[in-house]
Amino acid sequence: MRTIKLPSGEQVSAIGQGTWYMGDRKGEATREIAALQLGIDLGMTLIDTAEMYADGGAERIVAQAVAGRRDQVFIVSKVYPHNASRSGVPAACERSLKRLNTDRIDLYLLHWRGGHPLAETVAAFESLRQAEKIRHWGVSNLDVADMEEIARSPGGGECAANQVLYHPNSRGIEYDLLPWCETRGIAIMAYSPLGHTTSRLLRSPALESVAKRHGCTPAQVALAWGLRFPNVISIPKASDPDHVRENAAAIDVVLTAEDLAEIDAAHKPPGRKQPLDLL
Ligand code: NAP
Repeated sequence: MRTIKLPSGEQVSAIGQGTWYMGDRKGEATREIAALQLGIDLGMTLIDTAEMYADGGAERIVAQAVAGRRDQVFIVSKVYPHNASRSGVPAACERSLKRLNTDRIDLYLLHWRGGHPLAETVAAFESLRQAEKIRHWGVSNLDVADMEEIARSPGGGECAANQVLYHPNSRGIEYDLLPWCETRGIAIMAYSPLGHTTSRLLRSPALESVAKRHGCTPAQVALAWGLRFPNVISIPKASDPDHVRENAAAIDVVLTAEDLAEIDAAHKPPGRKQPLDLL
């Protein structure tokens, strides 16, 4: 598995695993745990979760998936905006640590901007980092103006990642946010890289045509496309073991200039500033 460097110099897997909707249905737990474990075996050792997902249920699934191999895995979790105050962040973090059955979160993100001042959340993250409850912190769903506010906050230079929506039908970040982060060594974590519900994106004739040339699937093309930047981490979610295998193998798909031009023609790159797309 290729790796991406965080600002600290630590390397994480370029393709990770999402967990949204995992933990929602009891009868699916065994399958979801097995899918995450297979993904780890195949090198997708970064796992993305959140206190929001299944109301903590996804964090519990992650705990079971990484049991006995915690040191091989890089766990990302997120705090709700309404918990992102000076006292709310450490309390939420403790609850997540308990559900995750671990003593540290590798990367802790603000899920999106809410009512608490960003500087207050940053101060809380920095305290947690000093207490070694979290190893890195970052944000999610923040555009350039918010990132500049983070950068101006005391300790804001420690921001390691920004997790945002990014796939061929949603590529506004290429205009400004992505280069802004790249210049500062901040990782972009591309969420919903397969288009979330997948049906529309994965039926794109351009992706299908490129996939045919490479003898791979449109999903693998979508992942390879997102990974063409040096600071992008992709976090597809898959409960189906065939999907997990396919996603891990996407690391070997290298798109040519011809492929990228074909994708650009059908999924236009941004020509000007666009508001940040959210799911
Ligand atoms: P996604 O990863 O784009 O798509 C997930 C869907 O794709 C699932 O239905 C999955 O099916 C299917 N799939 C997976 N691999 C496939 C393949 N190779 N071929 C065909 N279909 C495939 O959507 P997402 O879950 O929205 O995004 C990924 C992760 O990003 C989330 O799970 C979450 O961790 C994170 N996220 C973060 C935010 C945020 O606000 N920060 C928002 C959205 C998502 P199966 O499960 O049946 O395999």
